[in-house]
Amino acid sequence: MKPADVFRHCPKCGVALLVTGRAPFQCEACGFLFYFNPAIAVGAVLLAPDESVLLIRRAKDPHMGKLSVPGGFVDAGEVAEDALRREIREEVGVTVERLDYFCSLPNVYHYRGVTYQVLDFFFIGRVDSKSVQADPGEVTEICWLPRNGIVLEEIAFDSVRVMLRRFLSGLVR
Ligand SMILES: [Zn+2]
Repeated sequence: MKPADVFRHCPKCGVALLVTGRAPFQCEACGFLFYFNPAIAVGAVLLAPDESVLLIRRAKDPHMGKLSVPGGFVDAGEVAEDALRREIREEVGVTVERLDYFCSLPNVYHYRGVTYQVLDFFFIGRVDSKSVQADPGEVTEICWLPRNGIVLEEIAFDSVRVMLRRFLSGLVR
C-alpha cells in the first residue's frame, strides 16, 4: 500500500479518518497538512582500472539475493555525494573521492508492506584497486563484472537496471 493509505488517524490531532489514501494528507478536523514526498537515494557505478563494474549482492530485502550498485538513502541535511561516499564506505569498505553525476530515475521501494516513492541519483566513480571489504549485514558478495558480463535480469531495482542499460549502451555521456 501507499504511505497515504497507512494514515488511518491524523498524526497531529488523532482524529479517525473517514477517507484514507489522499495525498497530500490534509486533516479535516485540525487542518494539519502532510506531503508524501519521494525519499532521495543515491547509487554508484564503481569502475576498476580495468573498467570492470562493481556490483553487490543484497543481503536484505527488498530484493534479497539480487544484484545492485552500492548506495542507499540520503539523510536529511546530507549532501548527495557525501551520502554516497558514506554508503560506499559502509557497504564495500572503500573511499571514493570523485563522483561524477550520471542520471536520476524514479524508483519504488517495497518495505514492510508499504511502497515508498524514491528518486535515485546515480554517479560514476573510480577505485584504484579491486580490494574491497563487504559489510556482511548489507552485502553477501561483491562481484567485479566486465561490462559484457552484466545480466540486467539479475539487477534488483528497475531504476538501477535502466541506469545500467544506459551506462552500458553509452547513450549518456
Ligand atoms: Zn488533525
